Amino acid sequence: MPQGTMSDTAAAPAIVIVENVMKRYGAFTALNDVNLAVGKGERIVVCGPSGSGKSTLIRCINHIEKHDGGRIIVDGVELSHRLADINSVRCEVGMVFQSFNLFPHLTVAENCMLAPMKVRGISQAEARDRALGLLRKVRIHDQADKYPAQLSGGQQQRVAIARALCMQPKIMLFDEPTSALDPEMVKEVLDTMVELAREGMTMVCVTHEMGFAREVADRVVFMDRGSIIEEAAPETFFRTPRTERAKGFLSQIIH
Ligand code: ADP
Repeated sequence: MPQGTMSDTAAAPAIVIVENVMKRYGAFTALNDVNLAVGKGERIVVCGPSGSGKSTLIRCINHIEKHDGGRIIVDGVELSHRLADINSVRCEVGMVFQSFNLFPHLTVAENCMLAPMKVRGISQAEARDRALGLLRKVRIHDQADKYPAQLSGGQQQRVAIARALCMQPKIMLFDEPTSALDPEMVKEVLDTMVELAREGMTMVCVTHEMGFAREVADRVVFMDRGSIIEEAAPETFFRTPRTERAKGFLSQIIH
């Protein structure tokens, strides 16, 4: 399948369009002519060796990194360097990082309330209601008035997911959300992500959790050296990877 087109499973119109995107750090090319279209409600898992550009790709979609060439269009808004466009896109895109990134001096509930109050302009009471509702959804509402440091890694990551959801994003980006967790905490975070996927959230997840990919992904995107070199439905990708690089990668992570 050519890059940038939709798979059979993704009949919905694209909500994220990445077109011929280039990203360089000095002389190093981190993204080389990347094309990707994400349909509304589609779940994409991005995998590939360390350093292949996965994180850079999703950081460009959220404009945490600026791309140097090509176009990125999120929910109809092209990511230019105009602050208004960047802010409007950031409101629609929730991001969950490997290292949680919660504010340590705010309680769990306050972490969740901050952006909706500051950016969406909702009242404190409404923000708290929304926060408690979403903390309940990730099964952590009983910790709402604790500080992040009082929670386990898995709990903190679920707070980070709830915090992102409090902005009512149209798209959720995950950058290796389970790779900093102790093994016994991985499942609770993946379960939360599976539930989100089942509810129809559009998701782009950088992860090596291939069980998750099999369970929820509509499409697996495999990157190597700054390029997308394979895109396929999970079963096809896992059973019959086309490139030697994907075969080598899968043989290392699937035992
Ligand atoms: P992945 O997520 O696949 O592990 P990244 O997107 O984090 O890969 O990084 C891709 C490449 O870009 C790596 O070689 C990395 O060293 C380089 N890189 C990432 N961020 C920066 C940066 N801020 N400055 C210089 N090089 C960077």
